[in-house]
Amino acid sequence: MHIIHIATEFAPYAKVGGLGDVVQGLAAEQANLGHSVEVILPKYSWINKDLLPDLELTTPSFFSWEDSNKANALYSTSIGKTKLHFIEPVDNKYFDRTRIYGYPDDIQRLAYFSRASLDYLLLKKTPVDILHIHDWHSSLVAPLYKEIFAQKGLLVKGILLTLHNLSYQGICDPKLLLPIGFRKNSPYLKKMKQSFFSSSVNILKGGIDFSDKVIAVSPTYAKEIFSKQDSCGLQKTLEKNHSKISGILNGIETEYWNPLLDPHLSQNYSSKDPLTQIISAKSHNKNTLQQKLALSQNPRPLVSCITRLVPQKGPELIKSALARTLELGGQFVLLGSSQDPATELEFRLLAKEYADNPHVACILEYDEPLSHLIYAASDFIVIPSRFEPCGLTQMISLNYGTLPIARKVGGLADTVHDCDDENIPQNKRNGYTFQTYSDEALFSALDRALNDWCTDKEKIHKLMKIGMKENFSWKHSAEVYISQYKELL
Ligand code: ADP
Repeated sequence: MHIIHIATEFAPYAKVGGLGDVVQGLAAEQANLGHSVEVILPKYSWINKDLLPDLELTTPSFFSWEDSNKANALYSTSIGKTKLHFIEPVDNKYFDRTRIYGYPDDIQRLAYFSRASLDYLLLKKTPVDILHIHDWHSSLVAPLYKEIFAQKGLLVKGILLTLHNLSYQGICDPKLLLPIGFRKNSPYLKKMKQSFFSSSVNILKGGIDFSDKVIAVSPTYAKEIFSKQDSCGLQKTLEKNHSKISGILNGIETEYWNPLLDPHLSQNYSSKDPLTQIISAKSHNKNTLQQKLALSQNPRPLVSCITRLVPQKGPELIKSALARTLELGGQFVLLGSSQDPATELEFRLLAKEYADNPHVACILEYDEPLSHLIYAASDFIVIPSRFEPCGLTQMISLNYGTLPIARKVGGLADTVHDCDDENIPQNKRNGYTFQTYSDEALFSALDRALNDWCTDKEKIHKLMKIGMKENFSWKHSAEVYISQYKELL
């Protein structure tokens, strides 16, 4: 099968959160299954070329929409069996910025990218079996294909949209989409209207309406999005498209997230090692982390949180978890990257408040290598999300022998199973969960976790063993995606 992903992130070269991990992991596994897989990405000017030594200029100049002079260059390389293509606009600076998102012209930037991706595919003239688009960022590809490219002869057998996060939608004035080729009276633009009374269009809505299949990133999220609260205003659109929506749990790249091979750890370990060896390696990593972050080195339980700092991730409860962990005699490490100025300010103040506390470290940036060491060094990872489409941090931490303390929503509910819940088989229990979004509910899980750490090491070790043996690899999910593609062919 010839599969083309069109996306804005690809780990580790261009990553803000889980989207980058998912596109990379899914594409790699599909290629391992024997399919021809290509990923089209914007060529961000800051991409570390040292990590992509074989990146080559393969198409010096191709034009987006023939009656304009919008030339693009295309750079290509292969990572394993996956082909990557990076589109660089020649006469605009849309991707010559310091970040991936967060600019007033994000709509124009990503609309341009969607159009240029289709132009490139048309130029290439190779028939495409599946165009796989991701979130609102590349959702315009679906209506744009129908408006322009099907007629131009670009052969695509099916379009599949993955919903990584419904809360980002790309709402804008339709005028902003005219420059990429939509007609003023386009029926597709009309259908993308935010609501009957609104003059705005909603790009994600267009992706949902005009894709042939829509996949949410976990089975629970695929159900939750039909509720008023979690549909983020798209309830009607989702209901109308009910029959083409389903959920597939994300995987993780188990080669990359592997404590045995991870170059960022001070001591490697594996689920196959004897327990004493795992404990000793984790404690070595904990010492390294404590030294690195100037934390006191007393034996205390270490609770961490690795997250984007946005309202979705439960900032109020992250703060409460920090304070409660200290009350209970633990240490807390927060690695939080911000995209939201208000939340960032809150956490800058928090970091200041605890600056001299030897049991707290707040690192308010994106730091991939440090995240690996934290996964290995911690005893617990707290994930108190308001909603969580899938979540990867719980799966990574489980494979690193670190127990999640997670709110039972979305993909967290599908992957974290409470150790004290007698309705769950013993061999599936792997962490601590809570239901309600409140301090009390969070503490009911956090207190149990820290109490078990102090009084029942045997229980903790058993949970660690279960988590480390769980298989979150992409293999199964990639196969399910392929079976969904096959339905479209
Ligand atoms: P989301 O996609 O909503 O951000 P996920 O749990 O799906 O959340 O994925 C988060 C990914 O981003 C994980 O790989 C996690 O390790 C990584 N990550 C999140 N914040 C940071 C950070 N501040 N520094 C390094 N990695 C981070």
